[in-house]
Amino acid sequence: MRYLITGGAGFIGSHLSDELLGRGHRVHVLDDLSTGSMDNIRHLKSHPAFEYTIDTAASSRLVAELVDDADVVYHLAAAVGVELIVESPVRTIETNVHCTEVVLAQASKKKKPVLIASTSEVYGKSDALPFREEGDLTLGATSVGRWAYACSKAVDEFLAIAYWKERKLPIVVARLFNTVGPRQTGRYGMVIPRFVRQALADQALTVYGTGEQRRCFCHVQDVTRALADLMLNEEARGEVFNVGSSEEVSILDLAHRVIRECSTESEIAFIPYDEAYEDGFEDMHRRVPDTRKINSAIGWEPTVGLDGIIGDVVDSHRTAVPV
Ligand code: UDP
Repeated sequence: MRYLITGGAGFIGSHLSDELLGRGHRVHVLDDLSTGSMDNIRHLKSHPAFEYTIDTAASSRLVAELVDDADVVYHLAAAVGVELIVESPVRTIETNVHCTEVVLAQASKKKKPVLIASTSEVYGKSDALPFREEGDLTLGATSVGRWAYACSKAVDEFLAIAYWKERKLPIVVARLFNTVGPRQTGRYGMVIPRFVRQALADQALTVYGTGEQRRCFCHVQDVTRALADLMLNEEARGEVFNVGSSEEVSILDLAHRVIRECSTESEIAFIPYDEAYEDGFEDMHRRVPDTRKINSAIGWEPTVGLDGIIGDVVDSHRTAVPV
């Protein structure tokens, strides 16, 4: 099979490339390197079944050409990372909505199946835990930048489902919860690579708010396996799936576990949200996926626990930046 992956030089996209190439398929990556990086795909450049184009998924002409050469499309190109979203709201909204419009329109012309990567952010402030795919989305005021991201991804989902219902385009929506692993950068806010970098440099770990907020972290290799298997399942077409782990941890506990794993003397610095992000920033207290739907569709469940994830990220940072 020939796969097109938009955003394929990003953290998740590059791991998805590894997964699909490992299964014997051909992969073409389209990435504008805005948050992705050549470093993420350098190891694939000599692979005979791998190609890449450095350009934008906003270009209809280019996307049309690449879709034409593909059997299946993964649309992962998006502005991600809470810090980036708060700092660059125009880019976030425009990238997330426009590129998805282009990809779906071109895929629809050729009836090529598309997986749209969405996010657990769409559940917003909902406290109906664990989050079910059919549950309500609870977003905040339009003056709070974070909700622009959630809303832009919800629009992507609406559009994908509309193409399925109205134009019979086979689509799958994957709502990715906190995904972690080697190659993820902390530059756009993600907490585990930031904590690991801070701990290995003997700096204080920056815990935002009280650190009582809780998250579930899933290893990127578990996530990419889910993404690959979802597109093989006819029953998944037109459906939305949560993809994430249910192992919850508070951010403060996470900081202690990273410090322990790195055997460092780092302290913990509590940073108020207003200082970390912007005035009026709203964080989610808890975020837990209900994964029964994906489990019954493809038998998926995560295989790597939090200790394995932290260990893997620490190892990858140690190899990349000797301390
Ligand atoms: N966080 C933190 N320190 C950091 C970066 C993030 O305490 O240096 C917190 C953040 O406020 C959130 C959690 O860690 O409560 C997860 O943040 P991340 O940006 O990784 O993902 P989110 O769940 O917010 O999408």
